[in-house]
Amino acid sequence: MKPKSFSQASNHFEGDFTEAETICPSCGGKAKITQAHVDVAFFYEVLLVTVKCEKCNLKLSDVINMKFGKPVRFTLQVKDLKDLTSKVIRSATSTIRIPELNALLEPGPAAQPFITNVEGVLYRFLDAAQTLKNWSTTPQQAKKCQQAIQSIQMAIEGRMNFTIILEDPFGNGMIIPQNQEKIKIEELSEEEASKLKTGSYIILRPGKAREILRQED
Ligand SMILES: [Zn+2]
Repeated sequence: MKPKSFSQASNHFEGDFTEAETICPSCGGKAKITQAHVDVAFFYEVLLVTVKCEKCNLKLSDVINMKFGKPVRFTLQVKDLKDLTSKVIRSATSTIRIPELNALLEPGPAAQPFITNVEGVLYRFLDAAQTLKNWSTTPQQAKKCQQAIQSIQMAIEGRMNFTIILEDPFGNGMIIPQNQEKIKIEELSEEEASKLKTGSYIILRPGKAREILRQED
């Protein structure tokens, strides 16, 4: 089963979204900002925010956790098929790691926000490993990629225990487990948070001010 992509998931938010005018963080032109509530779990409030500029065609989207907003680390032990269905919300500033698979997803231009589950994250890593394999120039590289592909497939089939870690310096990304006993949620110290890569990002702040901050690396 292929997981829902971010854009497919966004179709579910119709009927509960607001639209307003804002100023494009890139060119200063007139832009539209839309905010939609995402129904994730009873004690979380998550907004999906999109900015579209009519002048320069800039398009940005991100997910915002309205209740948290502090540097955070989620660590989930994945031990069975049910754990694979735990929800993963990746914001533009989230880093996702699976140490047992040597898999790492860091913020950057190619890393889009998404809402999926653990299985969906594994499929993203699988796609990346397959692409790397296609690009490999030596038999050794191809062999290494093939080993990674096999490990990820084992994880997708529930034949391997692993740990998935999501860290976010702004507390926007999160993992919502099927089994609360298997997750550890820690607030990060300032020092830990400052070591996380954020890439070049734009912070979208919903609310009356519709403030948009731009931050370069
Ligand atoms: Zn613009």
